[in-house]
Amino acid sequence: MQFAVLSLFPDMFTSPFAQSIIGKAVEKGLVGIETHQLRNYAAGRHQVTDDTPYGGGDGMVMKPEPVWHGIEDMRQRYSGAHVLLMTPQGQRFNQAEAERLAQNRALVFVCGRYEGFDERIRSYVDAEYSIGDYVLTGGELPAMVIMDAVARLVPGVLGNEGSARQDSHSDGLLEFPHYTRPAEFRNEKVPDILLSGNHARIEEWRRKEQLKRTEERRPDLWQRYTQHKSDN
Ligand code: SAM
Repeated sequence: MQFAVLSLFPDMFTSPFAQSIIGKAVEKGLVGIETHQLRNYAAGRHQVTDDTPYGGGDGMVMKPEPVWHGIEDMRQRYSGAHVLLMTPQGQRFNQAEAERLAQNRALVFVCGRYEGFDERIRSYVDAEYSIGDYVLTGGELPAMVIMDAVARLVPGVLGNEGSARQDSHSDGLLEFPHYTRPAEFRNEKVPDILLSGNHARIEEWRRKEQLKRTEERRPDLWQRYTQHKSDN
């Protein structure tokens, strides 16, 4: 899986992807991450990437030409890449989208700043993603969130592939609760069933807990899950 990023702040990506699981995946060559300075695609001595909005108003808008040149260059460099625009107005990113994106060989993340992109840029991307209904100062953190969620689905990255399959949201439900040693912590005991060694009964208990907590905590997911079950 190759990730490429177009950003005015490419250095932001250095540390998060040099650590832990993703850092190791990069070292092993399972995941590649290349960042590109968007300013390099801007014309003129000052390499200006933003301008005032037509019609007036606060803030600056990202000029279309540098972003377009950047996207064109990304398509040349990473053949067949899926180009994703980071925007709070995009499709809401979730686990199902992470799984869909993980099928691609290369993903390009276009990160905005200021008031966002000139509207005309939208014609040159393959998809627009939001990581939630709130507004951040730039598209770098959303890109990192999506990259992390996709990278852990790349075969070999987690080591134990089963753990991604049972994670929350992978089948539309929240995951069951986890416990580790000690068997008693501040008067709270680990449920007996988990110490029983009876794997069939443990599986059954976990499934029940998974359903219970999804119903209690996420009525939206629960409704979708029960609807899907009654349709099939
Ligand atoms: N004026 C824009 C609006 O109201 O839709 C918000 C612009 S935001 C301050 C600057 C940039 O941050 C956006 O162009 C986008 O790349 C990124 N961004 C902010 N929030 C985001 C979110 N929830 N999901 C994805 N990208 C986001």
